[in-house]
Amino acid sequence: MSGGLSGSHNHTTFCDGGNTPREMIEAALALGFSDIGFSAHKDPVIPLDEEAYLAALRALQAAYAGRIRVAVGLEQDREAPTARRADYDYIIGSVHYLPAADGALCAVDDQPARFAANLPRLGGAGAAVKAYYAAVADCAGRWRPQVIGHFDLICKNNAGGCLFDENASAYRRLALEALDACIDAGCIVELNTGGLFRGYRRRPYPALFLLRHLARRGGRVTINADAHETAALDYWFAPGRVLLRRAGFDSLAVLRDGKFVDEPLESPQTS
Ligand SMILES: [Zn+2]
Ligand SMILES: [Zn+2]
Repeated sequence: MSGGLSGSHNHTTFCDGGNTPREMIEAALALGFSDIGFSAHKDPVIPLDEEAYLAALRALQAAYAGRIRVAVGLEQDREAPTARRADYDYIIGSVHYLPAADGALCAVDDQPARFAANLPRLGGAGAAVKAYYAAVADCAGRWRPQVIGHFDLICKNNAGGCLFDENASAYRRLALEALDACIDAGCIVELNTGGLFRGYRRRPYPALFLLRHLARRGGRVTINADAHETAALDYWFAPGRVLLRRAGFDSLAVLRDGKFVDEPLESPQTS
């Protein structure tokens, strides 16, 4: 069990996932996971009964002890910090919403047509990108989560560069500044394969130039499926490791017994 597969970004029926925690744990066991961490959304829109979530997951953690290590985390949106941080093993900090001038929250990962329709309320694509990365940097500095979720989620609705140019130096500068803020805050950045699994994206988050910068600066990286169902639990883990090696990483931050430890990237993850 000690060095099996591991993932810290997984959702269940406690928020918007399709499977119960027990179903996810059983599927992870069958795949050879030694550790599975859950990260229910603490979100301004999706409701979460934190007390029930914590109680159920801690009970499962005890029930599965000796077979698989269950960790209890939270995917905390920048707009919805938890008041119970000490009750969790770790926090994933994510930016899913941008506040519009009228105070409404516009979802960054909304359906493409709705996201495009909301852009004028955010001042256009350029202003939205700027606000997004400022929010990511703020999320890292203010809440100091252990992990930063899907770092460049703002690119989700930008297939083919339809809204902004991801190769433009102005864009890259904004993204790199936010990445520096995450590194300076001591956050681990995740390689998030969830969008790939769901067919939204042709690459994981974040982009290769950001991974290379993270590696050059000695920043920490982990691999997460952002799984919302059992079939996604280990999606693209093996190609992800190859990609990270190519980007310059020689170690990986891996959730072990509720904490993130650095392991050589070359080592096999399955026992
Ligand atoms: Zn998220
Ligand atoms: Zn998530």
